[in-house]
Amino acid sequence: MVYHYLYIFLFTLSGSLFAKTTIQKLSRQINRLSHLNQSMVRSCPLGDKDNSIDDRIWRDAGFSNATVSILDISNIYQSDFNRYTHSVDLTLVNLKGAGWDKELLKKTLERVAEVYKQCGIKVNNPKYVETDPPYSRVDISEEKNHDAALAKLLPSPSRPTLFFIRSNIEGKTGFAWPKDFADPPIQNTAFITAEVNTSEYKEKRQKGYSPTAHELAHIFGNCEHIEGKDYNILSKYYDRVSSDITKAQCDSFKRSNLVKEIPDA
Ligand SMILES: [Zn+2]
Repeated sequence: MVYHYLYIFLFTLSGSLFAKTTIQKLSRQINRLSHLNQSMVRSCPLGDKDNSIDDRIWRDAGFSNATVSILDISNIYQSDFNRYTHSVDLTLVNLKGAGWDKELLKKTLERVAEVYKQCGIKVNNPKYVETDPPYSRVDISEEKNHDAALAKLLPSPSRPTLFFIRSNIEGKTGFAWPKDFADPPIQNTAFITAEVNTSEYKEKRQKGYSPTAHELAHIFGNCEHIEGKDYNILSKYYDRVSSDITKAQCDSFKRSNLVKEIPDA
């Protein structure tokens, strides 16, 4: 009989313990759900993508204090009825102290994107690298192969890669190394000086002209300047060079292996 009561007692005790744990579990669940509901109304802070791995790769390659991010130029493609059949990946390397900054480079790239709209070519997730200049050089000499030395350090085979420098010792405002003009790693790289941002330079060029788009045209077209009186992106004359691209040029750019076809476009 004693055992009988003991069993009932133990049974009741274990039952209430079971009920207690179940209630605790349920209330935790409810708390979690209500917490989720609160998060759904508020938008979660997204923050920046963690680029520490990319940063390390560039720093290890010799680009001290490099930080890597993506330049957001998506506003260029908003409410846009252009049809894009092709896209390009670009890497922009800003050598600190050369006279460029992230905002200026964003504007520069937006201009490039506008220029290539006429070919149906879209600029895709442009990679932006801000770094201390290797060898402390922001004035780059072709004769002394400073440009090749920079290209040699690049940790990524992705091209085109654009270096934003202060000046070219030989006096050019920008220059590029298309496929048939150089071997890797300098092949398909370009160097743009900060001189292109001066009012003096801009006054001499056509409105809307983009020196960066011009250097890219050398690379995409794998070609030199063109003669003639027409306004054109690759004109050799400073008063004729413009953002105009002919249909034949667009077609040749799209044949470049640096310009990718957008599937089902
Ligand atoms: Zn040129």
